[in-house]
Amino acid sequence: MGCDLSIVIPVYNEEESVGALVRAISRALPARDFDYEILLVDDGSSDGTWKLIEKAKCEHERVRGIKLRCNYGQTSAMVAGFDHARGDVIVTMDADLQNDPADIPLLLGKMKEGYDIVSGWRVNRQDHQSRVLPSKAANYLISLSTGVHLHDYGCSLKAYRADCIKSIKAYGEMHRFFPALASMTGARITEVPVRHHARKFGASKYGFDRIFKVFSDIFAINL
Ligand code: UDP
Ligand code: MG
Repeated sequence: MGCDLSIVIPVYNEEESVGALVRAISRALPARDFDYEILLVDDGSSDGTWKLIEKAKCEHERVRGIKLRCNYGQTSAMVAGFDHARGDVIVTMDADLQNDPADIPLLLGKMKEGYDIVSGWRVNRQDHQSRVLPSKAANYLISLSTGVHLHDYGCSLKAYRADCIKSIKAYGEMHRFFPALASMTGARITEVPVRHHARKFGASKYGFDRIFKVFSDIFAINL
């Protein structure tokens, strides 16, 4: 059975966040107002994440779980979620509560204006400068090289019309190029400022090596 909205969330070793995440989404999107499913994609976690996803499935009928055999990475976990999503609109976000589900209605409101993709823009980004500066350089280069002008390609909180995103094949760190790839097939794209919080539990899954991956993807995309 289909639904209006699928929320696709890659989850890698986030056992402390899963319960709070599902509760925060349920608070932000009351069942009487929104018809949605929450797709939690366990990207090969080695901690108790899958157990907590199963618990969330028992407690909330809207939660579905997908378990990947090993750690494929955030982009591939998103794509696995897209393959299973039943919604007409797909929202992606992170599992660690850095994105705020209270912003989802804002994204959906923009979709109703006729956009195919609405990208979040973390205006007050709560990450260390060592993350923010390389990201600014990447944003500049992606904007220059793709002609799709957004402030914050790396923000996971985005909304897509399902048929615009399901056909895109991606790997590596390429989720930040989804809007640019979709624009090649005529997708209408806009952005909205969204909230951003410091990570509460656990640690970032990325180190400096991601900077090289992102920049090599910029070159790969432009080949
Ligand atoms: N993630 C994933 N697979 C990975 C790395 C990360 O599914 O190999 C998930 C992670 O659990 C989180 C999201 O991707 O939900 C973003 O990761 P993280 O918060 O570590 O990135 P940052 O916010 O530091 O950029
Ligand atoms: Mg994070």
